[in-house]
Amino acid sequence: MDTGRVEAELREKLSEAIRQLEDVQARLRGAHSASFGEQAIERESDEVDEKLEAGAIREIDAIKAALERIEAGKYGICTSCGDEIAAARLQALPYTTLCIACASK
Ligand SMILES: [Zn+2]
Repeated sequence: MDTGRVEAELREKLSEAIRQLEDVQARLRGAHSASFGEQAIERESDEVDEKLEAGAIREIDAIKAALERIEAGKYGICTSCGDEIAAARLQALPYTTLCIACASK
């Protein structure tokens, strides 16, 4: 398998995810305005941001793990059964660790 192209894509996704995480964290730690009405709105958007933050952290971890598997020569191999993961599945989910059969168990 040509992992060079995948690796480049993953590195791009990784820097995008890190940028997104930094954006969200900057918003979460930003100064909050004083009025109570606005604070209520900010609390709601904080909840959205916290979900985004958790999602970005999970994505960064998954991408890093995929890059490690590329370096180890294990990319595209199911971590559960050891079979090759179908190319179409890897295209849709570039950092999946499971083949379709194992993922649907
Ligand atoms: Zn499998």
